[in-house]
Amino acid sequence: MTGYKLATRAVRAGINSDQHHGAVVAPIHLSSTYSLKGFNQKRDFDYSRTGNPTRATLAKVMADLEGGAVGVVTSTGLAAAHLLCQLLTTDDLMVIPHDCYGGSYRLYTHLANKGNFKLLVVDQNDPQALADALVRRPKLVLIETPSNPLLRLVDIEAIAKASHDVGALVAVDNTFLSPFLQQPLALGADIVFHSTTKFINGHTDVVAGVVIAKDQAIGDELAWWANCIGITGSAFDSYLVSRGLKTLPLRMKQHQENANRVAEFLVNHPAVEKVYYPGLADHPSHELAKRQQSDFGAMMSFEVKGGVEAVKALFANLELFTLAQSLGGVESLISHPSTMTHAGMELEAQEAAGISQSLVRIAVGIEDVEDIINDLRQGLAASQQAL
Ligand code: PLP
Repeated sequence: MTGYKLATRAVRAGINSDQHHGAVVAPIHLSSTYSLKGFNQKRDFDYSRTGNPTRATLAKVMADLEGGAVGVVTSTGLAAAHLLCQLLTTDDLMVIPHDCYGGSYRLYTHLANKGNFKLLVVDQNDPQALADALVRRPKLVLIETPSNPLLRLVDIEAIAKASHDVGALVAVDNTFLSPFLQQPLALGADIVFHSTTKFINGHTDVVAGVVIAKDQAIGDELAWWANCIGITGSAFDSYLVSRGLKTLPLRMKQHQENANRVAEFLVNHPAVEKVYYPGLADHPSHELAKRQQSDFGAMMSFEVKGGVEAVKALFANLELFTLAQSLGGVESLISHPSTMTHAGMELEAQEAAGISQSLVRIAVGIEDVEDIINDLRQGLAASQQAL
Protein backbone atom coordinates (compact mmCIF):
# COMPACT_ATOMS: atom_id res chain seq x y z
CA MET A 1 0.00 0.00 0.00
CA THR A 2 2.95 2.35 -0.47
CA GLY A 3 2.07 5.70 -1.93
CA TYR A 4 -1.37 5.79 -0.31
CA LYS A 5 -2.40 8.06 2.55
CA LEU A 6 -2.88 6.66 6.05
CA ALA A 7 -6.70 6.71 5.89
CA THR A 8 -6.63 4.66 2.69
CA ARG A 9 -4.12 2.18 4.11
CA ALA A 10 -6.19 1.76 7.30
CA VAL A 11 -9.34 0.97 5.29
CA ARG A 12 -7.73 -1.29 2.69
CA ALA A 13 -5.69 -3.44 5.11
CA GLY A 14 -6.33 -7.13 4.47
CA ILE A 15 -8.90 -6.47 1.76
CA ASN A 16 -8.73 -8.98 -1.15
CA SER A 17 -6.18 -11.09 0.73
CA ASP A 18 -8.32 -14.25 0.75
CA GLN A 19 -6.95 -16.52 -1.94
CA HIS A 20 -9.58 -19.25 -1.55
CA HIS A 21 -12.97 -17.57 -1.71
CA GLY A 22 -12.23 -13.95 -2.53
CA ALA A 23 -13.68 -12.76 0.80
CA VAL A 24 -13.42 -8.98 0.70
CA VAL A 25 -12.66 -8.70 4.42
CA ALA A 26 -9.79 -10.84 5.70
CA PRO A 27 -11.36 -13.91 7.38
CA ILE A 28 -10.95 -14.81 11.06
CA HIS A 29 -8.75 -17.87 11.50
CA LEU A 30 -9.68 -19.36 14.86
CA SER A 31 -7.81 -22.65 14.45
CA SER A 32 -5.26 -23.07 17.20
CA THR A 33 -3.07 -25.32 15.05
CA TYR A 34 -2.21 -25.94 11.39
CA SER A 35 -1.44 -29.17 9.61
CA LEU A 36 1.98 -29.83 8.16
CA LYS A 37 2.12 -30.74 4.48
CA GLY A 38 4.21 -33.76 5.43
CA PHE A 39 7.17 -34.75 7.59
CA ASN A 40 9.02 -31.53 8.56
CA GLN A 41 7.15 -29.63 5.84
CA LYS A 42 5.62 -26.63 7.59
CA ARG A 43 3.22 -24.18 6.05
CA ASP A 44 3.34 -20.42 6.80
CA PHE A 45 1.65 -21.06 10.17
CA ASP A 46 1.91 -24.02 12.51
CA TYR A 47 0.53 -22.99 15.92
CA SER A 48 -1.50 -19.87 16.74
CA ARG A 49 0.56 -18.68 19.72
CA THR A 50 3.50 -18.46 17.37
CA GLY A 51 1.70 -17.18 14.30
CA ASN A 52 -1.88 -16.69 13.16
CA PRO A 53 -3.09 -15.29 9.81
CA THR A 54 -5.64 -12.89 11.36
CA ARG A 55 -3.10 -11.58 13.85
CA ALA A 56 -0.50 -11.31 11.08
CA THR A 57 -2.85 -9.10 9.03
CA LEU A 58 -3.21 -6.71 11.99
CA ALA A 59 0.52 -6.76 12.77
CA LYS A 60 1.31 -5.88 9.18
CA VAL A 61 -1.08 -2.94 8.96
CA MET A 62 0.03 -1.57 12.33
CA ALA A 63 3.68 -1.74 11.25
CA ASP A 64 2.71 -0.01 8.02
CA LEU A 65 0.71 2.77 9.71
CA GLU A 66 3.51 3.47 12.22
CA GLY A 67 6.23 3.22 9.56
CA GLY A 68 8.01 0.27 11.20
CA ALA A 69 9.53 -2.99 9.95
CA VAL A 70 7.76 -5.42 12.31
CA GLY A 71 4.53 -5.38 14.32
CA VAL A 72 3.94 -7.74 17.24
CA VAL A 73 0.32 -8.03 18.38
CA THR A 74 -0.02 -8.72 22.09
CA SER A 75 -2.87 -9.83 24.34
CA THR A 76 -3.08 -6.47 26.17
CA GLY A 77 -1.44 -3.05 26.12
CA LEU A 78 0.43 -3.93 29.29
CA ALA A 79 1.68 -7.11 27.64
CA ALA A 80 3.12 -4.82 24.96
CA ALA A 81 4.73 -2.66 27.67
CA HIS A 82 6.03 -5.83 29.35
CA LEU A 83 7.44 -7.21 26.10
CA LEU A 84 9.87 -4.27 25.90
CA CYS A 85 11.47 -5.50 29.14
CA GLN A 86 12.68 -8.61 27.33
CA LEU A 87 15.26 -6.36 25.68
CA LEU A 88 16.82 -5.77 29.12
CA THR A 89 19.07 -7.88 31.32
CA THR A 90 19.57 -7.47 35.08
CA ASP A 91 22.26 -4.80 34.80
CA ASP A 92 20.54 -2.76 32.10
CA LEU A 93 18.97 0.56 33.04
CA MET A 94 15.54 1.67 31.88
CA VAL A 95 14.31 5.27 32.16
CA ILE A 96 10.56 5.90 32.46
CA PRO A 97 8.59 9.14 32.89
CA HIS A 98 7.26 9.92 36.37
CA ASP A 99 3.79 10.58 35.00
CA CYS A 100 3.16 7.54 32.81
CA TYR A 101 0.04 5.36 32.90
CA GLY A 102 -0.32 3.94 36.43
CA GLY A 103 -0.34 0.34 35.22
CA SER A 104 2.91 0.84 33.31
CA TYR A 105 4.43 2.49 36.39
CA ARG A 106 3.35 -0.44 38.57
CA LEU A 107 4.70 -2.97 36.06
CA TYR A 108 8.13 -1.38 35.65
CA THR A 109 8.67 -0.53 39.32
CA HIS A 110 7.70 -4.03 40.48
CA LEU A 111 9.85 -5.78 37.87
CA ALA A 112 12.77 -3.53 38.82
CA ASN A 113 12.18 -4.28 42.53
CA LYS A 114 12.50 -7.98 41.69
CA GLY A 115 15.87 -7.23 40.14
CA ASN A 116 14.87 -7.86 36.51
CA PHE A 117 16.54 -4.58 35.45
CA LYS A 118 17.48 -1.21 36.91
CA LEU A 119 15.03 1.66 36.75
CA LEU A 120 15.06 5.44 36.92
CA VAL A 121 11.77 7.33 37.16
CA VAL A 122 12.33 10.89 35.95
CA ASP A 123 10.47 14.02 34.98
CA GLN A 124 11.42 14.03 31.31
CA ASN A 125 10.40 17.66 31.06
CA ASP A 126 13.18 18.57 33.46
CA PRO A 127 16.27 18.88 31.19
CA GLN A 128 18.70 18.37 34.09
CA ALA A 129 16.90 15.27 35.41
CA LEU A 130 16.86 13.81 31.92
CA ALA A 131 20.52 14.64 31.29
CA ASP A 132 21.47 13.08 34.67
CA ALA A 133 19.58 9.92 33.72
CA LEU A 134 21.20 9.69 30.28
CA VAL A 135 24.69 10.06 31.75
CA ARG A 136 24.06 6.68 33.38
CA ARG A 137 23.84 5.16 29.87
CA PRO A 138 20.41 3.50 29.94
CA LYS A 139 19.61 0.70 27.52
CA LEU A 140 16.01 1.81 27.05
CA VAL A 141 14.25 5.17 27.42
CA LEU A 142 10.49 5.02 27.56
CA ILE A 143 8.39 8.02 26.53
CA GLU A 144 4.67 8.56 26.99
CA THR A 145 3.46 11.69 25.24
CA PRO A 146 0.93 13.11 25.84
CA SER A 147 1.07 11.62 29.30
CA ASN A 148 -1.77 9.97 31.16
CA PRO A 149 -3.61 11.72 32.86
CA LEU A 150 -2.05 15.21 32.76
CA LEU A 151 -1.47 15.54 29.02
CA ARG A 152 2.12 16.67 29.43
CA LEU A 153 4.21 16.49 26.30
CA VAL A 154 7.86 15.76 25.74
CA ASP A 155 9.87 16.34 22.59
CA ILE A 156 10.28 12.89 21.02
CA GLU A 157 12.83 14.05 18.47
CA ALA A 158 15.07 15.73 21.07
CA ILE A 159 14.87 12.83 23.56
CA ALA A 160 15.51 10.27 20.80
CA LYS A 161 18.59 12.14 19.67
CA ALA A 162 19.99 12.56 23.20
CA SER A 163 19.22 8.90 23.99
CA HIS A 164 20.85 7.62 20.81
CA ASP A 165 23.94 9.69 21.64
CA VAL A 166 24.40 7.49 24.74
CA GLY A 167 23.45 4.28 22.93
CA ALA A 168 19.92 3.92 24.33
CA LEU A 169 16.87 2.64 22.47
CA VAL A 170 13.74 4.78 22.63
CA ALA A 171 10.21 3.38 22.94
CA VAL A 172 7.09 5.56 22.76
CA ASP A 173 3.66 4.73 24.14
CA ASN A 174 1.45 6.20 21.38
CA THR A 175 -1.86 5.09 22.90
CA PHE A 176 -3.33 8.57 23.44
CA LEU A 177 -2.91 9.72 19.84
CA SER A 178 -2.65 6.72 17.48
CA PRO A 179 -0.54 6.77 14.31
CA PHE A 180 -3.12 9.08 12.76
CA LEU A 181 -2.03 11.94 15.03
CA GLN A 182 1.56 11.14 15.94
CA GLN A 183 4.33 9.20 14.21
CA PRO A 184 7.04 8.51 16.81
CA LEU A 185 9.23 6.37 14.53
CA ALA A 186 9.46 9.19 11.98
CA LEU A 187 10.51 11.47 14.85
CA GLY A 188 13.44 9.19 15.68
CA ALA A 189 12.06 6.60 18.12
CA ASP A 190 13.04 2.94 17.70
CA ILE A 191 9.91 1.31 19.03
CA VAL A 192 6.30 2.41 19.36
CA PHE A 193 3.64 0.58 21.32
CA HIS A 194 -0.07 0.86 22.00
CA SER A 195 -2.85 -0.28 24.12
CA THR A 196 -5.06 -1.00 21.06
CA THR A 197 -7.86 -1.33 23.61
CA LYS A 198 -8.17 2.43 23.13
CA PHE A 199 -8.49 4.55 19.97
CA ILE A 200 -7.18 1.91 17.57
CA ASN A 201 -9.99 -0.52 18.28
CA GLY A 202 -12.26 2.32 19.31
CA HIS A 203 -15.33 0.37 20.36
CA THR A 204 -14.59 -0.63 23.97
CA ASP A 205 -14.96 -4.34 23.28
CA VAL A 206 -11.36 -5.59 23.18
CA VAL A 207 -8.30 -5.47 25.46
CA ALA A 208 -5.20 -5.76 23.28
CA GLY A 209 -1.84 -4.25 22.39
CA VAL A 210 0.85 -3.96 19.77
CA VAL A 211 4.56 -3.21 19.61
CA ILE A 212 6.14 -1.94 16.40
CA ALA A 213 9.88 -1.86 15.82
CA LYS A 214 11.57 0.30 13.22
CA ASP A 215 14.40 -2.18 12.89
CA GLN A 216 13.82 -5.70 11.58
CA ALA A 217 16.24 -7.38 14.01
CA ILE A 218 14.70 -5.74 17.10
CA GLY A 219 11.23 -6.59 15.78
CA ASP A 220 12.25 -10.21 15.24
CA GLU A 221 13.67 -10.38 18.76
CA LEU A 222 10.42 -8.99 20.22
CA ALA A 223 8.32 -11.39 18.11
CA TRP A 224 10.46 -14.29 19.34
CA TRP A 225 9.94 -13.27 22.96
CA ALA A 226 6.20 -12.69 22.49
CA ASN A 227 5.85 -16.33 21.40
CA CYS A 228 8.32 -17.57 24.01
CA ILE A 229 6.50 -16.00 26.96
CA GLY A 230 3.07 -16.57 25.40
CA ILE A 231 1.63 -13.06 25.23
CA THR A 232 0.53 -12.92 21.58
CA GLY A 233 -2.98 -11.61 20.88
CA SER A 234 -5.94 -13.83 20.01
CA ALA A 235 -7.33 -14.18 16.49
CA PHE A 236 -10.77 -12.91 17.44
CA ASP A 237 -9.40 -9.83 19.20
CA SER A 238 -7.10 -9.19 16.24
CA TYR A 239 -10.09 -9.34 13.91
CA LEU A 240 -12.03 -6.83 16.01
CA VAL A 241 -9.06 -4.46 16.26
CA SER A 242 -8.53 -4.70 12.47
CA ARG A 243 -12.18 -3.83 11.96
CA GLY A 244 -12.01 -0.87 14.36
CA LEU A 245 -8.84 0.38 12.73
CA LYS A 246 -10.61 0.92 9.42
CA THR A 247 -12.55 3.85 10.86
CA LEU A 248 -9.72 5.25 13.00
CA PRO A 249 -9.07 8.40 10.90
CA LEU A 250 -12.79 9.16 10.66
CA ARG A 251 -13.34 8.64 14.37
CA MET A 252 -10.30 10.68 15.34
CA LYS A 253 -11.56 13.65 13.34
CA GLN A 254 -14.88 13.64 15.21
CA HIS A 255 -13.25 12.92 18.60
CA GLN A 256 -11.06 15.96 18.13
CA GLU A 257 -13.69 18.30 16.82
CA ASN A 258 -15.73 17.46 19.93
CA ALA A 259 -12.70 17.70 22.24
CA ASN A 260 -11.87 21.20 21.05
CA ARG A 261 -15.39 22.37 21.83
CA VAL A 262 -15.39 20.64 25.23
CA ALA A 263 -12.03 22.17 26.20
CA GLU A 264 -13.33 25.63 25.26
CA PHE A 265 -16.41 25.04 27.40
CA LEU A 266 -14.43 23.80 30.42
CA VAL A 267 -11.93 26.65 30.33
CA ASN A 268 -14.76 29.14 30.65
CA HIS A 269 -16.66 27.30 33.36
CA PRO A 270 -16.52 28.80 36.89
CA ALA A 271 -16.48 25.35 38.58
CA VAL A 272 -13.31 24.37 36.75
CA GLU A 273 -10.00 25.39 38.27
CA LYS A 274 -7.69 24.28 35.49
CA VAL A 275 -7.90 22.41 32.20
CA TYR A 276 -5.09 20.22 30.85
CA TYR A 277 -5.45 20.00 27.08
CA PRO A 278 -2.59 20.54 24.60
CA GLY A 279 -4.96 22.26 22.19
CA LEU A 280 -5.29 25.25 24.51
CA ALA A 281 -3.00 28.15 23.63
CA ASP A 282 -1.82 28.45 27.25
CA HIS A 283 -0.88 24.76 27.57
CA PRO A 284 2.89 24.76 28.28
CA SER A 285 3.52 22.46 25.30
CA HIS A 286 0.99 23.91 22.87
CA GLU A 287 3.69 24.81 20.34
CA LEU A 288 5.34 21.41 20.67
CA ALA A 289 1.96 19.73 20.18
CA LYS A 290 1.45 21.71 16.96
CA ARG A 291 4.85 20.61 15.71
CA GLN A 292 4.95 17.01 16.90
CA GLN A 293 1.32 15.95 16.51
CA SER A 294 -1.05 16.44 13.62
CA ASP A 295 -3.80 17.46 16.06
CA PHE A 296 -4.44 17.62 19.79
CA GLY A 297 -6.33 14.40 20.49
CA ALA A 298 -9.47 13.75 22.50
CA MET A 299 -8.11 13.27 26.00
CA MET A 300 -8.16 16.00 28.64
CA SER A 301 -8.15 16.45 32.37
CA PHE A 302 -9.42 19.18 34.63
CA GLU A 303 -9.45 20.18 38.29
CA VAL A 304 -12.89 20.69 39.79
CA LYS A 305 -13.28 23.46 42.38
CA GLY A 306 -14.20 22.00 45.76
CA GLY A 307 -11.96 18.94 45.79
CA VAL A 308 -13.06 15.34 45.98
CA GLU A 309 -16.58 16.11 47.31
CA ALA A 310 -17.25 18.20 44.22
CA VAL A 311 -15.86 15.43 42.03
CA LYS A 312 -18.22 12.90 43.65
CA ALA A 313 -21.21 15.19 43.05
CA LEU A 314 -20.15 15.76 39.45
CA PHE A 315 -19.98 12.01 38.80
CA ALA A 316 -23.30 11.38 40.53
CA ASN A 317 -25.07 13.93 38.38
CA LEU A 318 -23.80 13.07 34.91
CA GLU A 319 -26.27 11.30 32.66
CA LEU A 320 -24.41 10.82 29.42
CA PHE A 321 -20.82 10.29 30.53
CA THR A 322 -20.00 6.85 31.88
CA LEU A 323 -17.81 6.64 34.97
CA ALA A 324 -15.26 4.08 33.81
CA GLN A 325 -11.59 3.38 33.24
CA SER A 326 -10.25 3.34 29.71
CA LEU A 327 -10.51 5.76 26.81
CA GLY A 328 -10.59 5.92 23.05
CA GLY A 329 -13.99 4.32 22.49
CA VAL A 330 -16.76 6.10 20.61
CA GLU A 331 -18.54 6.84 23.91
CA SER A 332 -17.54 9.59 26.35
CA LEU A 333 -15.99 8.32 29.58
CA ILE A 334 -15.04 10.11 32.77
CA SER A 335 -12.68 8.94 35.50
CA HIS A 336 -10.91 9.91 38.70
CA PRO A 337 -7.26 9.05 38.01
CA SER A 338 -6.16 8.92 41.65
CA THR A 339 -8.59 6.15 42.62
CA MET A 340 -8.97 4.52 39.21
CA THR A 341 -6.39 4.48 36.39
CA HIS A 342 -3.51 5.49 38.66
CA ALA A 343 -4.46 3.57 41.80
CA GLY A 344 -1.43 1.36 41.10
CA MET A 345 0.80 4.36 41.88
CA GLU A 346 1.51 5.16 45.55
CA LEU A 347 -0.03 8.46 46.75
CA GLU A 348 3.41 10.10 47.05
CA ALA A 349 4.20 9.12 43.46
CA GLN A 350 0.82 10.48 42.38
CA GLU A 351 1.55 13.76 44.14
CA ALA A 352 5.00 13.94 42.54
CA ALA A 353 3.34 13.41 39.16
CA GLY A 354 0.80 16.19 39.89
CA ILE A 355 -2.26 13.94 40.21
CA SER A 356 -4.54 15.57 42.77
CA GLN A 357 -7.81 14.37 44.32
CA SER A 358 -9.75 17.03 42.40
CA LEU A 359 -8.40 15.87 39.05
CA VAL A 360 -10.90 14.39 36.62
CA ARG A 361 -9.99 12.86 33.26
CA ILE A 362 -12.32 12.70 30.30
CA ALA A 363 -12.16 10.77 27.07
CA VAL A 364 -14.34 12.77 24.70
CA GLY A 365 -16.47 10.49 22.55
CA ILE A 366 -18.14 11.06 19.20
CA GLU A 367 -21.68 11.70 20.43
CA ASP A 368 -23.30 14.99 19.46
CA VAL A 369 -21.07 17.61 21.05
CA GLU A 370 -24.01 19.69 22.32
CA ASP A 371 -25.18 16.69 24.33
CA ILE A 372 -21.69 16.15 25.74
CA ILE A 373 -21.38 19.78 26.81
CA ASN A 374 -24.88 19.95 28.26
CA ASP A 375 -24.14 16.90 30.38
CA LEU A 376 -20.94 18.44 31.73
CA ARG A 377 -22.77 21.73 32.33
CA GLN A 378 -25.42 20.18 34.54
CA GLY A 379 -22.91 17.92 36.29
CA LEU A 380 -20.59 20.82 37.11
CA ALA A 381 -23.48 22.93 38.39
CA ALA A 382 -24.45 20.09 40.76
CA SER A 383 -20.82 19.72 41.86
CA GLN A 384 -20.84 23.24 43.25
CA GLN A 385 -24.30 22.99 44.87
CA ALA A 386 -22.99 20.03 46.86
CA LEU A 387 -20.33 22.15 48.62
N1 PLP B 1 -0.63 2.73 28.01
C1 PLP B 1 -1.56 3.66 28.25
C2 PLP B 1 -1.24 5.10 27.94
C3 PLP B 1 -2.80 3.32 28.78
O1 PLP B 1 -3.71 4.28 29.02
C4 PLP B 1 -3.07 1.96 29.08
C5 PLP B 1 -4.36 1.54 29.67
O2 PLP B 1 -5.14 2.35 30.12
C6 PLP B 1 -2.08 1.00 28.83
C7 PLP B 1 -0.87 1.41 28.29
C8 PLP B 1 -2.29 -0.46 29.16
O3 PLP B 1 -3.13 -1.05 28.22
P1 PLP B 1 -4.16 -2.26 28.51
O4 PLP B 1 -5.17 -1.77 29.48
O5 PLP B 1 -4.70 -2.57 27.14
O6 PLP B 1 -3.35 -3.39 29.07
